[in-house]
Amino acid sequence: MARRHFIGGNWKMNTDLATARTLATALAAQWTEGSSSVDVVLFVPFPYLESVARMIASSALALGAQDLSSEANGALTGEVSAEMLTDLGVTWVLVGHSERRHRIGESDALVAEKLAMALESGLSVVLCVGENLEQREAGHAHEVVARQLHSALAQIAREDLDRVVIAYEPIWAIGTGIAATAVDAAEAHREIRACLASRYDSELASGIRIVYGGSLVPGNAKTIFASLGVDGGLVGGASLKVHDFLSICSAAMIGVSAG
Ligand code: PEP
Repeated sequence: MARRHFIGGNWKMNTDLATARTLATALAAQWTEGSSSVDVVLFVPFPYLESVARMIASSALALGAQDLSSEANGALTGEVSAEMLTDLGVTWVLVGHSERRHRIGESDALVAEKLAMALESGLSVVLCVGENLEQREAGHAHEVVARQLHSALAQIAREDLDRVVIAYEPIWAIGTGIAATAVDAAEAHREIRACLASRYDSELASGIRIVYGGSLVPGNAKTIFASLGVDGGLVGGASLKVHDFLSICSAAMIGVSAG
């Protein structure tokens, strides 16, 4: 089944207001070439969402948040609800990013609740999964990723998966400058598809988009995106540089993928 490529730029807790506006304005002006074949989403810090929404309003870029609350509303100081995000024009959200799982301490159960809340609220989601170095070296990478997937998807209906992109992000590759090889990425994506086929069915598994994240840069993006079953990427550090991010987006224009 043919799949349209996806690129997410995860700004994390970076930029200030002026930089966020400059970055968004430049990307909105320059991302025109491949907009018909690649979905590009900017995952912006909460305080800058409204400004960036204005900067990219009539562009081919979509607006994403980096997190959401698992609750709809209430006495939850500091939390941000799905409805607050949609009010600002957010259409995508990251769920289960490894920095939230491992640095903030989000459990598999909380990730599952956030995924359900996002989908119930009409948001599209990039669900992040991936093993750490110790788990990989012990030969448990596939098992860890399968556990994260099964746990997150336990309550999710097949039809809601239309609004989910899975990001395979091995933790040892995030922000380290050591990207997975194209072969490793292809193998992990194949395992994820097998896991989805066993949980749902093979039609769903071959239709869902699975992107790679971890030290993507202009120099490795094309090779990784050309691997079988890799439908684009989630980009951290390089998404803060206009030229690098656009060149990664262009590398994803190699066409829709199959396999
Ligand atoms: C990320 O934050 O999801 C990520 C992949 O970061 P980096 O590209 O910097 O490794």
